[in-house]
Amino acid sequence: MEKEKLKVKYNSGHGAILCSGCSVILKVGFEYTDEELKYSRGEIDYLPPQYCEQCVLKYTKQQ
Ligand SMILES: [Zn+2]
Repeated sequence: MEKEKLKVKYNSGHGAILCSGCSVILKVGFEYTDEELKYSRGEIDYLPPQYCEQCVLKYTKQQ
């Protein structure tokens, strides 16, 4: 099984980073860090997934 990684979406011009739990948009292209930019261009293969506050709360409650 593939390791879970950062979820990005491509649309015209700007991409977006999505919550790996519920797919809400966390960040759009112009807010990307250098690493996120490289990842979205396929220059690096892996970045850890990101979650919105809701999902972080949900996951921390479950543990
Ligand atoms: Zn979420």
